[in-house]
Amino acid sequence: MEKLKKRSWAEPFKIKSVELLKMTTREDRERALEEAGYNTFLLKSEDVYIDLLTDSGTNAMSDVQWAGLMVGDEAYAGSKNFYHLEEKLHQYYGYKYLVPTHQGRGAEHMLSQILIKKGDYIPGNMYFTTTRLHQELAGGTFVDVIIDEAHDPTNLHPFKGNIDLQKLESLINKVGAKKIPYVCIAATVNMAGGQPISMENLRQVRELCSKHGIKIFFDATRAMENAYFIKVREQGYGNKSMAEILREMCSYTDGCTMSAKKDLLVNIGGFLALNDYDIFEEARNMVVVYEGLHTYGGLAGRDMEAMALGIVEAIQEDHMKARIGQVEYVGEKLQSIGVPIVLPVGGHAIFLDAKKFLPHLQQIEFPAQTLAAELYLESGIRSMERGIVSAGRNKDTGDHYYPKLELVRLTFPRRVYTQAHCDVTAEAVEAVYERRNEIKGLEMVYEPKYLRFFQARFKRKM
Ligand SMILES: *Cc1c(COP(=O)(O)O)cnc(C)c1O
Repeated sequence: MEKLKKRSWAEPFKIKSVELLKMTTREDRERALEEAGYNTFLLKSEDVYIDLLTDSGTNAMSDVQWAGLMVGDEAYAGSKNFYHLEEKLHQYYGYKYLVPTHQGRGAEHMLSQILIKKGDYIPGNMYFTTTRLHQELAGGTFVDVIIDEAHDPTNLHPFKGNIDLQKLESLINKVGAKKIPYVCIAATVNMAGGQPISMENLRQVRELCSKHGIKIFFDATRAMENAYFIKVREQGYGNKSMAEILREMCSYTDGCTMSAKKDLLVNIGGFLALNDYDIFEEARNMVVVYEGLHTYGGLAGRDMEAMALGIVEAIQEDHMKARIGQVEYVGEKLQSIGVPIVLPVGGHAIFLDAKKFLPHLQQIEFPAQTLAAELYLESGIRSMERGIVSAGRNKDTGDHYYPKLELVRLTFPRRVYTQAHCDVTAEAVEAVYERRNEIKGLEMVYEPKYLRFFQARFKRKM
């Protein structure tokens, strides 16, 4: 017998409760997809076997977090769970002031409205849908200052989330520091394929911004996953703890917006965190109008408790090793059968390169949307388009944005699926890849005004 040489990692948890899934036939899925207008966002969850649509709010909570729900203090004001969350924010992220919000976009909304004036520019390491929209609704213009490597799906740069300092500096020189209320830095940049930013780059951006008196706000949604990449990839960080790395990352920024539905192992929640008292004052005022009182921000006490406990579980290195290890496992399988994916494999998702997967389709035939639909038909696996549909239209000219990257995202919920689910997923992608030449594109038949990828409808091209 051949000897097993590889030492595998395994999950640092066992399963206590299960959720049964409905198994569907190809005819079932054909019907469901038709009804959903070929948009995986419009499928009923019941009709999905393995749901890789998003890692947002889809996490499995631990028994400790579930127990935490029972100690929810549902007082309207001054809930003890708020103070628990505040304590963990101070301890792990290091920011001074906390404003809870129902989810990440609640924080983005307030930050954008408070800091952005009409005609301002907000540089960032690639756009994120809700982040950019809130910047634009506040009268600002987003400017992408990510390094060029991020737009190349095969470039193996270990920190493709880095900011190009020259791009940032020339924007500052062109429009002037006064027109830049802050730089928005995202960790493990979602739209680039879940790619991290390095500590060195964060430090350099801080230096440049301090020179010009420009603030930095961190999209800390996946900052802990980014911290793990710094630990394993960046020189000098191998022996530092995840907690130390996260604290250092945050120390180069003036505050953060947070979607706790990702890193923090909960199903709902978010916050705005700040070091500046005046901005905090305004946010605390504004949250009452849009979210709820400043000690609950649209959340139940129990949700804040689950978040506070989630911070402590998510920062564990064993957790992150299994979390990112699972994504890498699927990535390696797909690479071994020659499926084109974004490299290096990201922290939360595998991104199929739809332009290479379906080279016979024009971008206006929505290759990524098409591929996501085909993968569902094949196997009941739900994924998401991250390409021309997600990119939307230019607000001035009304034309489609034509992003360089046309991707299908297979996003892994934290602590939800097993290795066998991963194997089934890789096999389904392989099956679609084998019949790729017969696949026809789509046509958009309904287009909503904002964030169109959520609700747009399509039909098959003849
Ligand atoms: C999800 C997400 C947001 C928005 O947060 P919601 O909780 O969905 O409102 C912002 N930025 C990034 C990077 C995200 O992934």
